Amino acid sequence: MKRKWIFVTGGSRGIGAEIVRSASRNYDVVFTYKTSMIEAKALAEQLNNEPGNRVEAVHCDVSDVSQVEDVAQSLIQRYGPPYAVINNAGVAEDSLFSNLDEQALTHIFSQNVFSAFSVSRAFIGSMMGESDACIINISSVSGIKGNVGQSAYSATKAALIGMTRSLALEMSRFNMRVNSIAPGYIETDMTRHLKDSGTGLKKSIPLRRFGSTVEVASLVDYLLSEGAAYITGQTLVIDGGLTC
Ligand code: NDP
Repeated sequence: MKRKWIFVTGGSRGIGAEIVRSASRNYDVVFTYKTSMIEAKALAEQLNNEPGNRVEAVHCDVSDVSQVEDVAQSLIQRYGPPYAVINNAGVAEDSLFSNLDEQALTHIFSQNVFSAFSVSRAFIGSMMGESDACIINISSVSGIKGNVGQSAYSATKAALIGMTRSLALEMSRFNMRVNSIAPGYIETDMTRHLKDSGTGLKKSIPLRRFGSTVEVASLVDYLLSEGAAYITGQTLVIDGGLTC
């Protein structure tokens, strides 16, 4: 039977790369990279060595609407509508509120929010005709609780949670599910500087450790599976108890 295909943004490193790795067991995967071309091509090549896998890395700056629309159109033409879109690409640019200027705000919103809107918008028309398509937005616990230096990042991640809820309501009549995942501290390049900053941070996490990319990818696998067919409009938190 022909496998369904899914689209993952920011699959070249970190959480996105693990989502690609894990999802490629059940789906054909197309993922984007922006700067990490070598890592992206190596990941696709490695996964394509497994029998039955079809994984493709495409260059796309997801904060650039015209690039997103070109990539989406060409993929829909070649492969038809995707089963799922996973908006994972994002940046964390911490800054105290007093240092935030318009340029910094516009930049982080275009990387973390406008990107998810334009990627979803580029695919959603084609997905409405499918019987069970879904969208997953990678938000953050920073969209639920505050963090010093993260007023902009928190606002972008809260925006994704709000978008998830409203879009889920709009898409429910097409039997399309829209959910988000809010990870706490996960071991990736994004948190490397925090990991080496002593034990204080880990003590603030009830499970006393950072999460792994594999743990986040497992949750994505679950949301993609038939077992999650009755879940929509939700934000699933995976944070070792940080927001308890
Ligand atoms: P990394 O910094 O490890 O990786 C970021 C990924 O996003 C890279 O693949 C990068 O691509 C891609 N990316 C960034 N901007 C763009 C863009 N404009 N266009 C295309 N791709 C882009 O981050 P993580 O894996 O840690 O984070 C992934 C997501 O999870 C983010 O949305 C982040 O906010 C969220 N998150 C992470 C947490 C953590 O603790 N790590 C906690 C909570 C949420 P490239 O390298 O090719 O440029």
